[in-house]
Amino acid sequence: MKIQLRIYLTNNDLYKIIQEKFTMIHGPCAIESFEQMNIIVKKLKDISPFFRGGIYKPRTSPESFQGLQEKGFQIVGQIKYLYNDFYITSEITSIEQIDEYDNIDIIQIGARNMQNYELLKAVGKLDKIILLKRGFGNTLTELLNSAKYISNEGNKKIILCERGIRTFSDSSRFTLDLSAINYLKKRTEYPIFVDPSHAGGEAGEVLSLTDAALAYGCDGIIIEVHPNPSEALSDAKQQIELNRYINYIKEKDITKK
Ligand code: PEP
Ligand code: MN
Repeated sequence: MKIQLRIYLTNNDLYKIIQEKFTMIHGPCAIESFEQMNIIVKKLKDISPFFRGGIYKPRTSPESFQGLQEKGFQIVGQIKYLYNDFYITSEITSIEQIDEYDNIDIIQIGARNMQNYELLKAVGKLDKIILLKRGFGNTLTELLNSAKYISNEGNKKIILCERGIRTFSDSSRFTLDLSAINYLKKRTEYPIFVDPSHAGGEAGEVLSLTDAALAYGCDGIIIEVHPNPSEALSDAKQQIELNRYINYIKEKDITKK
């Protein structure tokens, strides 16, 4: 019988790594199948063991794909069984889902829920890393207040994330507020991440925004990557094709940052 030694880092150790080292979180907008996640993890695990993948998707239209939900958590379980070093970030959309997130390493509070105070208080009671995104209509003061709703409950393992705000500009999906990085760094100790995907809205633009965010000195990036973007069930235009992403990372030498 083959005995496999499994090493999982604790939430505290994971957070320490994120605090000390530049972190890439990559993966699809939504988990769509085991095969999709397996291809992505196999190809990207040596670049970074931090992945993303939506399981409950907050969509503008109720007719759009809402995420695999229960099946999505099963896929995460299968992938965790296959790979030792795999840490997943996934968005929670309701307080009722909390028990389902046991196997999720980083819980994302999405832009639409940044001021869902009951949800913030609920994740504040967990021993989990929370990635809190800025709402697209919210100030940075409001973002810091939302973080306080989490930390006041005891959970201080927080990552703040700029993902673009709504302005009158129609040159991209949202306007990435890069000066948020320095503003937040002066006011908090939390790692400051950037999500160039939801701001860029289009793959080429997403990579340019990633360059810009790196130049600004963010502590990490959360970016959407897909093996076959044209067939993605959500955010198809903005997801970076897997090999294009790998080439980009190599070219920029990002893992050595
Ligand atoms: C997402 O990360 O897929 C997402 C929906 O993000 P946001 O909340 O920033 O729109
Ligand atoms: Mn998305």
